[in-house]
Amino acid sequence: MKTLKELTRPNIWELKPYSSARDEYKGAVASVFLDANENPYSLPHNRYPDPLQRDLKTELSKIKKVSPEHIFLGNGSDEAIDLVYRAFCEPEKDNVVAIDPTYGMYQVCADVNNVEYRKVLLNDKFQFSAEDLLAATDEHTKLIFLCSPNNPTGNDLNGSEIEKVLSKFEGLVILDEAYNDFSATPSFLRNLEQYPNLVILQTFSKAWGSAAIRLGMAFASEGIIGILNKIKYPYNVNQLTQQQAMELLRKYYEVERWVTSLKEEREVLTHAFKKLSCTEKIFPSDANFFLARVTDAVKIYNYLVGLGIIVRNRNSIALCGNCLRVTVGTRRENEILIEALQKYKG
Ligand SMILES: *Cc1c(COP(=O)(O)O)cnc(C)c1O
Repeated sequence: MKTLKELTRPNIWELKPYSSARDEYKGAVASVFLDANENPYSLPHNRYPDPLQRDLKTELSKIKKVSPEHIFLGNGSDEAIDLVYRAFCEPEKDNVVAIDPTYGMYQVCADVNNVEYRKVLLNDKFQFSAEDLLAATDEHTKLIFLCSPNNPTGNDLNGSEIEKVLSKFEGLVILDEAYNDFSATPSFLRNLEQYPNLVILQTFSKAWGSAAIRLGMAFASEGIIGILNKIKYPYNVNQLTQQQAMELLRKYYEVERWVTSLKEEREVLTHAFKKLSCTEKIFPSDANFFLARVTDAVKIYNYLVGLGIIVRNRNSIALCGNCLRVTVGTRRENEILIEALQKYKG
């Protein structure tokens, strides 16, 4: 790997971050806070939140078994995706490489930041080869995006190919594990020490059931986390979100129960889906959704919309012709979907 200084945009490397009132005084002993121009009357939401979310990171580090210095928290993982572009990619000069198809935000953030986005098509099993991916890189490639389990295909990427990319690529590998809770494959978190160029993204939005609070996690070396913290908005994770996340972590056993149920429901739903006359193929899933090739994705999508049932039409995505992406819902929701499709006349 190149040094962090070589990978970081020079203006970001030199940047002196904004120092907030809460950065400058961090102690707990004071009782009179007249430093941040807050309103003293409107308790409990009148104070600025902790810019580095220390209490939350302490609790998270127990669950993830990663120390707080290796954790960045943002306004969804989407914030972390945007920040890695802004930290490491010089507009119009640097580029990034990603598998295709994958999560759309990698390309949107590339376009917003005016950074070239290079796509490498997956094979018909929705797998990639490290060699092909690396062949698409050059000396200006700063980031490689991998997503495992991948969205929208639903499958885990081959772990040994991921490791090959990690050991051979000179830049940073952003490994998005938004759906890892639903997979039988362990997270790459345990490899964080081994690969200084690894950035793992996880989120509160999927298995953790908290899409509304907008909270995403990035795990990486202290150096990388330091750069993300330096360029983020000072109070990027609001107080309500921090409190709600603490609440969730206190009942983490609920998350484990949800994941167990959703994995069971995924099996029931895919089994029923396979028997439908409109189904051509169900792709294997390691996530809380699956991709299904159907006889006519556009017609079936519109038919379901007419009944108030919304799935995701992925027909126009690479390798996903005539495919629908279906999220696993409650038993009842899944039954409603299956009953509707049983009545569908192509
Ligand atoms: C849903 C999803 C996310 C989550 O984004 P948040 O901003 O944390 O809600 C990240 N990556 C992938 C691949 C996703 O599908």
